Parts: sequence; C-alpha cells; structure tokens
Amino acid sequence: MTERLHIIGGGMAGSEAAWQAAQAGIPVTIHEMRPQVETFAHRTGNLAEMVCSNSFRSDDSEQNAVGLLHWEMRQAGGLIMQMADKHRLPAGGALAVDRDPFSEDVTAALRAHPLVEVEDGEISELPSDGHWIIATGPLTSGALAEAIRAETGAESLAFFDAIAPIVYAESIDMDIAWMQSRYDKGETEEEQKAYLNCPMTKDEYEAFIDALLAADKTEFHEGETAGYFDGCLPIEVMAERGRETLRHGPMKPVGLTNAHKPDEKAWAVVQLRRDNKLGTLYNIVGFQTKMKYGAQTEVFKMIPGLQDASFARLGGIHRNTFINSPTLLDDQMRLKSRPNIRFAGQITGVEGYVESAAMGLLAGRLAVAEMTGKTLPPVPAETAMGALVTHITGGAEAKTFQPMNVNFGLFPPVAGLKAGRRGRKDRYKAYTDRAKELWTGWLAV
Ligand SMILES: Cc1cc2nc3c(=O)[nH]c(=O)nc-3n(C[C@H](O)[C@H](O)[C@H](O)COP(=O)(O)OP(=O)(O)OC[C@H]3O[C@@H](n4cnc5c(N)ncnc54)[C@H](O)[C@@H]3O)c2cc1C
Repeated sequence: MTERLHIIGGGMAGSEAAWQAAQAGIPVTIHEMRPQVETFAHRTGNLAEMVCSNSFRSDDSEQNAVGLLHWEMRQAGGLIMQMADKHRLPAGGALAVDRDPFSEDVTAALRAHPLVEVEDGEISELPSDGHWIIATGPLTSGALAEAIRAETGAESLAFFDAIAPIVYAESIDMDIAWMQSRYDKGETEEEQKAYLNCPMTKDEYEAFIDALLAADKTEFHEGETAGYFDGCLPIEVMAERGRETLRHGPMKPVGLTNAHKPDEKAWAVVQLRRDNKLGTLYNIVGFQTKMKYGAQTEVFKMIPGLQDASFARLGGIHRNTFINSPTLLDDQMRLKSRPNIRFAGQITGVEGYVESAAMGLLAGRLAVAEMTGKTLPPVPAETAMGALVTHITGGAEAKTFQPMNVNFGLFPPVAGLKAGRRGRKDRYKAYTDRAKELWTGWLAV
C-alpha cells in the first residue's frame, strides 16, 4: 500500500506541498485547524488564505527575484501560481490577486483531488512516525509551538521577528566605511574585521535622530502583540527614550578607529554585520524598526557610507513563529533530530506568500522523492528556489537568523559582470537566465 503524506497547516505552503505530492501520485492528508481554532489574522476556513495584502509582488521574471520565483513555480505546475494567475487583478508589473476567489479555488482544487483529504482540527503533538510536513506558518497554534519548542530548545523557536534592514554589500561606499570589530576582538583577521563601520559626526547624528523621530511608523495589527516583550525595541523607540540612547547602544563609537581618518573620533558609529556566507549581504546591527518602508530608505541613506545603499530587505517587527532552520534542518528540509518531519513555509524563516508557497512546493517534492525511493540532486543554488533553501538551511548566519525574502543577494554572483548600479540590468538578466536553465534541468531529473 502506498504510504500517506501528512501535512499540518493548509496555508500557502501546506496547500502547495499537498498539490505537488498528490499530482505525483502520493496520497495526502492536510490537517488544518481553522475554522475550529482561529488565529487573529485569518477570517475564513479556506485553505491558502491571504491574511493581509493581496499582492504576490513583482511578476518580472527577468529583473526581479520574486518574479523569477513565480516563473519557477509555474514551471513546476504550482497550484498557488495557477490560481493566482486565474484571479489576477490589474496592478502594473505586480501580481495582485482577488483574495477570496483565489483561496476558494485553491480549497476546491485540493478537496476535489482524488488523492487529497482534508482533516479538520488542530494537531498539538509532534508525530513520531510516518511522513510529515509542518507548515503551520507565522501563527502556529500555541500547543504545537510548545511541542516544537520542547524538541528544538527555546532558543531555536522565535515568536516575533526583529528584522534589521539588509544592504547589498556592493552598494556600500567603502571610501567612507571600514571593516573592524570593536576593540579588534577575535582570534583571526576575519573575526577582527567582521563588522563594517559607518561613522557619524555630531551634526549627522543629531539630524539622524530628528529624522527617526519624525518618520512614519507602522502599528502592530490588532491581537499581534500578545506575548510581545520589550527585549527587542525598534530603534525609533530607543530614540524616543532619549536623544543619546542610541549613541550608548547600537551606535556607540567606542573601540573603533576610522581607517580613512584615524585622527578623527566619530560621534556615533553604525555597524553592519555579514548576513550570509557569500558575503553579498550585510544587516545593520540593532536596527530593527517599525518605520514605514519609504521612511526607512530615506532615513537609512542619511548614514554616511550608505548614501547609495540598495536594500535587499527593509526592517520590521512582526508576530512570527519561526525556527532556527540553519541549525535545525538538513538540506532536504528535514528536522535533523526527527527526519520523518519536514518543515515548510514561513515557519522555516522565509517571509511572504510567494516564498512560503515556494518552500511548500519544494518540501512536497522532496517528500515525494523520499517516499518513492528516488534521490534528487540538491536544487541548484543559482535558482531562486535553490538560493532561498540554501540560505535557510545553511547559508544564513545561524546566530542572527531572521526571516528572509528572496532577493538577488542570495544568489552566487555571475563571474565577469560589472558590479554596481550601472551593471545591474545585465547582471540580473544573467542571474535569471542562468536560473531558468538550471531550474528546467532540475525539474527534468
Ligand atoms: C498579521 C500578518 C500579516 C501578514 N501580511 C503579509 C503580507 O501582506 N504579505 C505577505 O506576503 N505575507 C504576509 N504575512 C505573512 C504570511 O502570513 C505568510 O507569508 C504566508 O501566509 C505564510 O504561509 P504559510 O503556509 O507558511 O502559513 P499560513 O498561510 O499562515 O498557513 C498556516 C496554516 O496552518 C494552520 N495551523 C496553525 N497551527 C496549526 C495546528 N497546530 N494544527 C493545524 N493547523 C494549524 C493555520 O490555520 C494556517 O491555515 C503576514 C503574516 C501575518 C501574521
């Protein structure tokens, strides 16, 4: 008898994983707690409900990493993309979706599939045998989160993210910034130069604080703050507590010497730390924020050295259950301590509808391969799918791991192409051409 795949959570990831497995001939049970158990964000009992915006972001598969992910999912026969295309709304280059008919059709397609059954109800324990995918998302129920925490340890499961903005390394002005760890700490030269430092004069610092205080901020959604604690304050809240707070906190200038102007003592220093093994991305240390995106780019470009910064992602703080995937998952998305369980979707530390569905697609395919005794080669890291899964299962710095959306900073560079803003169009085209070829090849294996 063919084994059954069990999926906990029928959101973006769980729905796509179920579809991929069922289409490959594997019987699937989706365990979905709604509508019996509700979350503060969902409104319906539908599968794949879009809880907030109705956008799948850019649909440009030549110049945009999320557009490329759309393309890759379409090539793989993804249900989420099929229904998003069917219920597309006019939105320029973006893919906006008519949310209710979209999730109703995903639900109908899965319920009508002869190999899919949907079982209503919350799962509150980790399954000990059988093939499982946990895709319970940012609002994983309390009981299951507790069971996951008992398995992974408290430090490996977060209930809120605290995302500092991430900058493309190539867009940082190294005539102003320099590499140095505070007090040159570290055994190796690499450790002694682990941070990238941006100096500020007193006037620049004061102007920066004024801009932080004046910037537009977003609010938490209703119900989102339950369980939030003050451990990870947004920088603008720190600034509100006193104009000097940041200068004695994440922007303290001590233990650092400006490599370009050794005799000038900076009034404040903004530090950036490497965010991935490739060294293409840097996060601004301690700069989690709830400023609106437009305000963030304006305010952060006031930092000397970041005046031309390109941001791979902007900061935020949200209610978000996610595991420390770089330490907990293997490259097949399996929990190392219980390989019969895979994780998929936002709980793995990707962010967004599209990225979550993509990780569902991959987890579904990997589960099918395992259940049918097939060995799939690793997904090429040069594809959008591969860049994302490589990041969460090992490429990201585990100690500072925070949710990530897909972006070209996660891709291995294409050799021989011009760096910087000018070469961007050709570079992105080269990334996406390479990805399309490799993804097509991987799907054909
Ligand atoms: C308030 C809020 C606003 C957001 N806004 C956006 C946005 O605008 N754009 C964007 O791209 N992303 C947004 N996100 C993130 C978005 O939720 C995810 O990107 C996406 O829905 C994640 O897909 P998923 O499948 O991992 O989780 P979900 O889509 O949330 O699916 C998880 C499913 O698991 C079920 N579940 C949970 N626990 C259990 C259990 N124990 N047993 C059985 N079922 C369970 C849930 O009911 C849910 O249906 C937002 C998230 C939140 C919380």
